[in-house]
Amino acid sequence: MGREKLIQPEEREEDLLLRTLRPRRLEEFIGQEKIKERLRLYLKAAAERGDVLDHILLHGPPGLGKTTLAIIIAAEMGVQIKITSGPVIERPGELAAILTGLGEGDVLFIDEIHRLRRNVEELLYPAMEEFKLDILIGEGPNARSLRIDLPRFTLIGATTRTGLLTSPLRDRFEVVFHLDFYSPEELEEIVLRGARILGVRLTEEGAEEIARRARGAPRVANRLLKRVRDFAQVRGAEVIDREVARQALEMLEIDHAGLDELDRLILRTIIEKFGGGPVGLETLAAALSEEKDTLAEVYEPYLLKEGFLQRTPQGRVATLRAYQHLGYPRPAGAEERLL
Ligand code: ADP
Repeated sequence: MGREKLIQPEEREEDLLLRTLRPRRLEEFIGQEKIKERLRLYLKAAAERGDVLDHILLHGPPGLGKTTLAIIIAAEMGVQIKITSGPVIERPGELAAILTGLGEGDVLFIDEIHRLRRNVEELLYPAMEEFKLDILIGEGPNARSLRIDLPRFTLIGATTRTGLLTSPLRDRFEVVFHLDFYSPEELEEIVLRGARILGVRLTEEGAEEIARRARGAPRVANRLLKRVRDFAQVRGAEVIDREVARQALEMLEIDHAGLDELDRLILRTIIEKFGGGPVGLETLAAALSEEKDTLAEVYEPYLLKEGFLQRTPQGRVATLRAYQHLGYPRPAGAEERLL
């Protein structure tokens, strides 16, 4: 597919370089002030008691810093972190091996924890609650269950939405943090920090231009920075100012509202093929040949937040802002129907 996917949630090869931009300590982590404040308190309390940290669930759209926070938490606690993800663990035995391999006080980070298989997830319950592992030995009538002690550990789970978790799993997290989109000012700070680390000369206006189009996500901000840097290099621009940033972003077809090609295609499809909506998610996904989950978890949150899209019980509706942004005439009956 020729479409450039700048806002895809998965880490890609080019992101390896961006890992150098990952904040290592809590004080380097920009934004999410409420979370940081509570986290500092919990870290201090756990350290004073000489205890492990409670299990933490992080939820929020992709690219907002869930993995980064988990790595920081382990660093602040002075323990090791083991990183895995829900769909990667295929059998209970694999999770058992991970759990028994942990050291006392270590952090286990499970990304996309809502995608754990049921029989794997069930193994987590006693592990989280009592630091015990139930293993089944033998088969048939001779099978017996053996309970072994695990090191005390902290589970950090990440998910795009808590609603995707089963309630027994959700209930076992003592702490739940919701990561929200970053403000343009915070993103500007993130971009300026990234530029410093990469050795790129970027003006405040240039940073502002990139931040404004980063759709609230540090990962997107860092990716855009890298693309803009490449553009500046090819153009022989030594300093990235507003104009250079603007030209680069225009070339990437990211508009001033931060929408990329697929965002606009989603809105255009709703408007042109479905009369502005409401249209169900499945129907929309089929019309776009896109994964339903990608639409719902990667694209929609930002379109909803920015008021381009509305979610109604009947389906998705393009708002008046979407019509205006894409240059469509105001639809009839707009006042009753649209934002
Ligand atoms: P998630 O796990 O939520 O998908 P990540 O933790 O992988 O997101 O973050 C994506 C990238 O964004 C990281 O590589 C990191 O460089 C950057 N990042 C995330 N949060 C921050 C932040 N608060 N300050 C600076 N950079 C951040």
